[in-house]
Parts: sequence; C-alpha cells; structure tokens
Amino acid sequence: MTSFGPAMPTFTELVPGIRRLLAPNPSMMTGPGTNTYLFGTDEVAVLDPGPVIDSHLDAIIKSSGAPIRWVLVTHTHPDHSPAAVRLARRTGAELLGRPAPDGPHQDATFVPDRVLADGDRLMVDGIELEAIQTPGHASNHVCYLHLARNWIFTGDHVIDGSTVVIDPPDGSMSDYLESLARLKELAPIALAPGHGELINDPGRIIDWIIDHRLQREAKVAVALNANPGLTAMELLPLVYRDVDKKLYGWAERSLLAHLIKLEEDGRAVRHRDAWQGGGS
Ligand SMILES: [Zn+2]
Repeated sequence: MTSFGPAMPTFTELVPGIRRLLAPNPSMMTGPGTNTYLFGTDEVAVLDPGPVIDSHLDAIIKSSGAPIRWVLVTHTHPDHSPAAVRLARRTGAELLGRPAPDGPHQDATFVPDRVLADGDRLMVDGIELEAIQTPGHASNHVCYLHLARNWIFTGDHVIDGSTVVIDPPDGSMSDYLESLARLKELAPIALAPGHGELINDPGRIIDWIIDHRLQREAKVAVALNANPGLTAMELLPLVYRDVDKKLYGWAERSLLAHLIKLEEDGRAVRHRDAWQGGGS
C-alpha cells in the first residue's frame, strides 16, 4: 500500500536496454502508477503492462521501437497484468508468468503461454532474465533477476517508499517473509519496483521491511495476550494506531495475515472469528 508519491517521469531509460514507462493509474494503492519495464532494443520483452489503458498500450508499442516478443507479468493483480493479453494480441508476443489463482482481486484474463517456475531463464536481445518465485503479496508472484546487472524487478514484492498489503488467503505473511529473505540472499545491486523509483540500497530496504513486519507481529502477539477473544477488526486499533483510518480496510487484511502466521507458528488460536494468544 502506498500513498501518492512524488511526480515521476512517464518515460525513463534507466540504463541502455532497460526502459520504464509509467502507466497513468495513480491512486492511493498504486502510488504514482504502475511501472511497465521494457527490456532490449532489437527485440523487446515487456514486464507488467498494467491495467487496460489504450494510451498506455499505445505508448508501450510506440516506445518499444522493435518487435515485442514477450510479455512478462509479476502477478495477476488488476494494476499489473490485465493489459498483457491485449498487448499479446496486438503484437503476437508470448505471455509468460504464472496463472491467476481463484479469488477476488485477480485478473483471470491472464493465461500464460509459458508458466514460469523458479530459476527459469529468458534471453532477450542478449539480456538474460531469471524468474524468482516470491509468493507472499500474491501466491503467484514472480520477481525477475537481470543477471548481468544483478538488478531485481520486484513488482509488488517490494515497492518504493511504502509497504504492501498481504491479503489472505492468497496473500501469506509467512511466505512473504521467506520471499524477502530469499531476495536478500541474492544480494541485488538495485531493485526496480512495480511502483515508485529505482531502489539503490536493497539490503537496507529489505532489512527495514522484515524488521517492520516482525515489529508489527510482536505488537499483535502482545495485544492478543492482553485482550483474548477479540476479532481482527477489534484488534485493529490496538496494533495499527499509526495507520490512517481510511486504510483500515486494507490494514485489517494485513492484520489477519499476521494472525494466521502466529497461528501457523503455534502462537495464536482462533475460535470462529475471535483470536487469543496460545500454544508454545
Ligand atoms: Zn499486487
């Protein structure tokens, strides 16, 4: 989840062979909008074409300057993948990613021609990209490692300037923390997020996110033990005092994700919608 960020340019060549286009969909949840990345110059792969916005699709095709052969997606939330099938239809590109799981907030129109597994590689105009499976924010989330530069394109796994929503049951806090640890192990030089600017200090940012989530988890555990029998909605003001009430709907989803992780860890027990501390 992110607030409106600073103004970002709509087109940026980050380095030769990597371009970024900003989709015109700014909002409370998308910050300045969704980042679409273009890899290659003689042949092009497009990552996360965003929602269906004709002007953005036209801008992707116009700025590609070469045949678009692949469309990759990080995950199938409505601000990342719905334009993929349109773009593939207009260009004949192959769709790569992981299929949409059942449930709300999923783009079921995205049906990959090639389902990516962890470690799968794609060569684009001399650029090698590797799929890194990173479930957590979404169960089908994939980051892409640019091997030569050691940059990771992180979609909504890590975004610039804010934390992301973990919305169960598709979102999983346990998976999210494991996927963050995985990203850190890869020791990237930069992170290119789905929202916001390039992140040049990945280690520090990943540590901050892990720390922030574990601090919140500790607060949830303390509140549970002090107030047994509350629902997630009742626990919310006790552990999200710092969050704007307008965001409580989403904060409740993340709180539920923390509660489910505590339950998995044997530190919380659920009876219907009421929670209490317990277990080991
Ligand atoms: Zn998302």
